[in-house]
Amino acid sequence: MIKTTGLVKKYGRVAALQGLDLEVPNGAVYGFIGQNGAGKTTTIRILAGLLMPDEGWAELAGRNVVRDPRGVRQVVGYMPDFFGVYDDLRVGEYMLFYASAHGIRGAAAFKLRDDLLELVELGTKREAFVDTLSRGMQQRLCLARSLIHDPAVLLLDEPASGLDPLARVEMREILRELCRMGKTIIISSHILSELADLCTHVGMIREGRLLRQGPLNEMLAGDRVRRFILRCIDQEEEAAGLIGGWPGADVSNTGHGQVEFSLAGDAAEAAALLKEIVGAGTRVTHFAQTEQSLEDTFIQLAREVNGA
Ligand code: ATP
Repeated sequence: MIKTTGLVKKYGRVAALQGLDLEVPNGAVYGFIGQNGAGKTTTIRILAGLLMPDEGWAELAGRNVVRDPRGVRQVVGYMPDFFGVYDDLRVGEYMLFYASAHGIRGAAAFKLRDDLLELVELGTKREAFVDTLSRGMQQRLCLARSLIHDPAVLLLDEPASGLDPLARVEMREILRELCRMGKTIIISSHILSELADLCTHVGMIREGRLLRQGPLNEMLAGDRVRRFILRCIDQEEEAAGLIGGWPGADVSNTGHGQVEFSLAGDAAEAAALLKEIVGAGTRVTHFAQTEQSLEDTFIQLAREVNGA
């Protein structure tokens, strides 16, 4: 379990964190979502034991970041958003270097090097120079390096940034494998869709405060406004007009035999609206609720916070 309580961090007059409370259950893959400058990197660096909060505290695997930052670093693997790689160093040497930094040497280090390179699908690149690897490969190497001391917790700051779609899929597979190995993982991103099929839990941060957190399926469901698509053979304009006049409904798009709209209320409300549309003579071929995306949830929460 990872828990933070009332984390505050200021850089001069900039308040990066303004009382952040997070709870990440053991074994979760926690998507930490927020726009640029929301405070994600600051939070992750505090959790990694690399930055002290001004107020509040955080605990990871039973260690407190304020009282025991060194202990925290032993149980945490950290992959920063920007990382340098060394020239003139081969992939295998790079891993051995980090192994020795953790006091692991000899046969144990060689085995770890090979196992971890295999895990991140870089087994065939052991003799390649690090700076000749693609961006995606360098990301995976950095991930392998962060696993060298077998940490219980992994903190990954924007792990999929700058990766092409195939490299993202590869990264996702590796993270799933790490999840199966029982690690608790926090992944930050401002690309919301990138997290949706990866995470078990989500926390949304804005201006250094948590908007909302919880299991992914609860975040996407909830009793909030639902989005619908209606398809019909004819009379789409009439249907859109009828929907637009329905209490709690809001048409966002009409055209090509389709009406997209949002509707506040439960399933009975949607059924009543459908009955009305069909009763008015529109030949409906499709009427379904669309999955609420993380984007929708985030934008909606941000609006609520702004009182919009
Ligand atoms: P991004 O997605 O752009 O990486 P982030 O959510 O990780 O953003 P942080 O990097 O934690 O956000 O920054 C939070 C706020 O603190 C921002 O306003 C940023 O400009 C400010 N900030 C971060 N680091 C420093 C620093 N070293 N000195 C001054 N201000 C900083």
